Amino acid sequence: LEAAMKVLFLDIDGVLNTQKFIVASQKKTDKQHAVPDEGPKSFTLDELAEMMEAREKADPVKVAKERWDWHVNMLDPVRIKRLNRIVNETGCVVVLSSSWRIGMDLWELSAMLQSKGAEFTLLSKTPSKTTNDECRGDEIWWWIRDWNDDVARKKMDEGNIVDRFVILDDDSDMGMLMANLVRTSFFGEDDEAGLNETHVEECIRRLNS
Ligand SMILES: [Mg+2]
Repeated sequence: LEAAMKVLFLDIDGVLNTQKFIVASQKKTDKQHAVPDEGPKSFTLDELAEMMEAREKADPVKVAKERWDWHVNMLDPVRIKRLNRIVNETGCVVVLSSSWRIGMDLWELSAMLQSKGAEFTLLSKTPSKTTNDECRGDEIWWWIRDWNDDVARKKMDEGNIVDRFVILDDDSDMGMLMANLVRTSFFGEDDEAGLNETHVEECIRRLNS
């Protein structure tokens, strides 16, 4: 199993950004969307209904551009560079487990990451839980199970079987997969919060062990 597949399950908020980074980036976004200095104005329900209706008819390109800007502004190139190092030094593939995966296409998510310096393409994203009794660890497990079943069914090369994985996340709802978590923090000083050098070393050590 020397060549078996290594997977890094990627969360975004709290890994590729931090509380401080988001506060700074939202100031930028507010400026782009021309939020007045005194903060967003409050509207009557009639005004809101009219605005929402207008938005539904708005230029889809403009809407997509706003979504793109909003997300890309929240991705920190410094932390993406650190993630590149894990990918390059271990040869792992990256599967998105972040809530960012919901409602966005894989190609768009990859393009967002690449626009901020990612040197990899997302392979896949995890399925979504359907009840509150399930946790992110379950979603990750279903992905691994289904992938390996698929490899077995298609009699693909043994090298495609997942045998090592790490979960990069600032949350701990990993259930039975807790031991595979490399936990980051959303809060804290710049050199500590988000994906830091210690996490990078830990991921490399685990994936290359
Ligand atoms: Mg998170």
